[in-house]
Amino acid sequence: MSLPYISIVIPVHNEQEVLESLYKRLIPVMDNMGKPFEILLINDGSKDKTEEMLNEIRLRRPHQIRIIHFNGNYGQHMAIMAGLERVRGEIIVTMDADLQNPPEDIPKLVAKMEEGHDVVGGYRQDRQDRFWRKFLSKSHNIIRAKITPRIPMKDEGCMLRAYRRNIVDVMVASGECSTFIPALALTFAHNPAEVGVSHEARQEGTTSYNLYKLIRYNFDLITGFSLVPLQVFTLIGILVSAASGLLVFYMFMRRIIIGPEAEGLFTLFAILFFLAGLILLGLGILGEYIGRIYQEVLKRPRFVIKSELNPLSENTSHSQQETLTHDA
Ligand code: UDP
Ligand code: MG
Repeated sequence: MSLPYISIVIPVHNEQEVLESLYKRLIPVMDNMGKPFEILLINDGSKDKTEEMLNEIRLRRPHQIRIIHFNGNYGQHMAIMAGLERVRGEIIVTMDADLQNPPEDIPKLVAKMEEGHDVVGGYRQDRQDRFWRKFLSKSHNIIRAKITPRIPMKDEGCMLRAYRRNIVDVMVASGECSTFIPALALTFAHNPAEVGVSHEARQEGTTSYNLYKLIRYNFDLITGFSLVPLQVFTLIGILVSAASGLLVFYMFMRRIIIGPEAEGLFTLFAILFFLAGLILLGLGILGEYIGRIYQEVLKRPRFVIKSELNPLSENTSHSQQETLTHDA
């Protein structure tokens, strides 16, 4: 059995409604490309029928489909990471299971990779999502681009992306606990490109992301790839100290020239509240960084694998047994 040329990595979390159509649309695309391929589906602790369905789907193409079951929910990016650790292809494509980015766009990404790029990102044309998601993501994209200028990415929410083997190897070696896969890849890429991909509304199933999770991910992206928030705080700190130094000097002069005054109590309150708010925000940002340092220091495994179903190699295929390896 020859090594795959293309590896597709798909994180799956409670997607029982879409798995069948995913299989039906992805397989023909891959077959038509006429290159050896493998598909890795990582079950990120789904609570619905995803597990049994994945196991069943694998049996239809046991040489090309590999399944990893996590023992809990570790998040989309960790699921992708588990896939990246195991891929054997030269070009690695990540995509969502929910078919919001059509598998039919994969050849487009691969063609772009073959022009010599090491990372090809997709950006969603004509995005079909709720208004608040689009708005949040647009404004966030603008701020994020300013804070992390070294990560050229039009659409950070688009997970239909392709990476070359060497980039995946360094991503895996970096071993971070919480990360943002596309941004991590771009920090190592030397010749990235982007292509427009289509976007469909989620046909079935529901999004696994609520507002809280989205905010957490955005913190991962910003604090994981930039120290700008901390530096902004240092700058604000310097400015505020300078301004209050001037204020103290002014008050002191008034005390000497005019004598004691008790006016301006509320101005004082306002200034104090403003500063208290600023300090809290600063502490919060500091906390984000310290929290990440803490996680890295703990050195806990990033995810725990319950079971892994690997391709049947040719000499074992006479017994229709599944190759189950227990890691956990
Ligand atoms: N996903 C995952 N773990 C999670 C949340 C999501 O593996 O904790 C997968 C999910 O199955 C899908 C992809 O990540 O394949 C994107 O998730 P979703 O479609 O819910 O997010 P959205 O498209 O709404 O941003
Ligand atoms: Mg989706």
